[in-house]
Amino acid sequence: MFTKILIANRGEIACRVMETARSLGVQTVAVYSTADAAAKHVAMADEAVLIGTGPAPADSYLLGDEIIAVAQATGAQAIHPGYGFLSENPEFVDAVEAAGLTFIGPSASAIRAMGLKDAAKALMEEAGVPVVPGYHGANQDADFLAQQAAEIGYPVLIKAVAGGGGKGMRLVEDAADFADALASAQGEAQTAFGNPDCLIEKYIQKPRHIEVQVFGDGTSAVHLYERDCSLQRRHQKVIEEAPAPGMTEEMRAAMGNAAVRAAEAIGYKGAGTVEFIVDGSNGLRPDGFWFMEMNTRLQVEHPVTELVTGVDLVDWQLRVAAGEALPMTQEQIPLIGHAFEARLYAEDVPKGFLPATGTLSHLSFPAMARADSGVRAGDTISPWYDPMIAKVIVHGPSRAAALSRLSAALDQTQVAGTVTNLAFLGALAADPAFAAGDVDTGLIAREIDALVAAPEATPVHKAAAAQAALGLEQAAWDSGFTLWAPLHQSVTLGEGEATFTATVEVRGPDLQHWDIEGAQVICTRVNGQWLAAGKRLPDVALSGDAITVFAGYGLSFTRIDPLDQASGAAGDGNVIEAPMPGLVKAVFARQGQEVKEGDRLAILEAMKMEHSLLAARDGIVAEVLAADGDQVEAGAALIRLEEA
Ligand code: ADP
Repeated sequence: MFTKILIANRGEIACRVMETARSLGVQTVAVYSTADAAAKHVAMADEAVLIGTGPAPADSYLLGDEIIAVAQATGAQAIHPGYGFLSENPEFVDAVEAAGLTFIGPSASAIRAMGLKDAAKALMEEAGVPVVPGYHGANQDADFLAQQAAEIGYPVLIKAVAGGGGKGMRLVEDAADFADALASAQGEAQTAFGNPDCLIEKYIQKPRHIEVQVFGDGTSAVHLYERDCSLQRRHQKVIEEAPAPGMTEEMRAAMGNAAVRAAEAIGYKGAGTVEFIVDGSNGLRPDGFWFMEMNTRLQVEHPVTELVTGVDLVDWQLRVAAGEALPMTQEQIPLIGHAFEARLYAEDVPKGFLPATGTLSHLSFPAMARADSGVRAGDTISPWYDPMIAKVIVHGPSRAAALSRLSAALDQTQVAGTVTNLAFLGALAADPAFAAGDVDTGLIAREIDALVAAPEATPVHKAAAAQAALGLEQAAWDSGFTLWAPLHQSVTLGEGEATFTATVEVRGPDLQHWDIEGAQVICTRVNGQWLAAGKRLPDVALSGDAITVFAGYGLSFTRIDPLDQASGAAGDGNVIEAPMPGLVKAVFARQGQEVKEGDRLAILEAMKMEHSLLAARDGIVAEVLAADGDQVEAGAALIRLEEA
């Protein structure tokens, strides 16, 4: 075994790898960008070295040569790439090996073999792995491809051969739309990957995404069963589970064998995932799954496999990279119970899942869940990287038991200091179709309206917020209370765009009568715990004027000084502001132009995504305050409108 390894990553995966390394007595070296000096992965590592010149990945976590130099200078013998960044970069693997170090992962040639979707499909066909019917050859002539699409039969999917993250992918339902869709997919592929080539695939009906975890030693491989990742929003996984609902022993064996064949065909070493698309229109059938692609690294969702098999996949990665044999044979790998993982992000769901930033004033997870997180209370979610807060992972003896544990765990997860997708995850965990195991990749899109509905604060929640705002949860008998008259106090709180005033009559140290705009809430304290109508008041976090009530997945309020209210009322939709720091990609508004509510006025690129900035109302563009290429701060005024 190695005595010291370097982790070329950040966030939760860097912390995850360090935990196992530590348990094996292996020292860890972290690298970090200028934005991450105070990050959790830096604090966890035995040594940490600043790399690069700035926070952007290209100036930090993608600097392979500098990272290799750090490994050499610190005496690390191996590099774990985590996922993302350099994890599937064959040139990096070559450079690591040329420097006399071990790459904890597959060979460069295995990564190359799976790097392009067309070549990978051809290779898999040869190895006897079922691939989605379609055309994945070299001829890129538009008429030829249209003819192929017609032969495959509509609907078809156009995919960029170099694609990833759903980019360069187009669903075409009708031959008349093929030419336009192909041109736009090729254009997007050229911009994103520098390679316009596309393949054509049959579009699978009611598709399910089921992937198989494999593990190889360079010659032979085993599988650790499947994960179902069908709950996706815009091709991004949201909740994953193992095993797949409705899986039969026959189909599991067929998929497992195909995945092992795929891994062995490329002499795979380490942890990898073979992704299949499954026809879910008529139950699961052993002839109804097809190879999509192989991810030649540890996946974000690997913990669900760990919880149902009891295997520590990072432990296996380190052992196999260090030259040990695979720790178990296929027959020895157990499959016990059911596990779910929910990806908790800092994002504004009602605003179209807009990535958010913020400093986490409070963060806690219930003991019933495994929470893999790269942040702690007090840490900042910066605009530079993925805004993931944590992965909430649970296990139970059955799918139903695990799902109710997931619901409870999400309900008891507490985050303050940023908006989160917790309510969305909670709604998803409670979705009847999901509970029935009736999943497919379209489930979220079909039910999106119900899933994004924000939980509403009740008078009890508002009383809890007001109590904290006034510091009355600790209220002692002498905090202004007089024997002559009950003490009255009031506070004005903001809740989204609205405000309300809460008034309390303190009748004693353990009795408060609240009036929340006409609704009466009586709070009593029993054994130090405040109750309303016999139920515990929810926990509350107070940070400055921001109040978070931990009910309904986190309800946010702000304490408002009534005297300041006039200045806070400027939200008339006249000024289009940058919602977060970022790069102005395009400004469409021209001075004097007439615009309608909802018109796209500019595009801001932030956190690796493009965000359209829309007119909040009809008007005339009075001033354009930003230009293409400007780097702007959150809240910067970009465009000003005036009445028509
Ligand atoms: P990317 O590499 O861009 O993420 P994938 O090939 O992994 O693209 O596909 C992403 C998602 O698109 C899958 O998880 C699935 O939901 C959907 N998908 C891909 N291929 C098909 C297909 N042939 N039929 C239906 N849906 C598909």
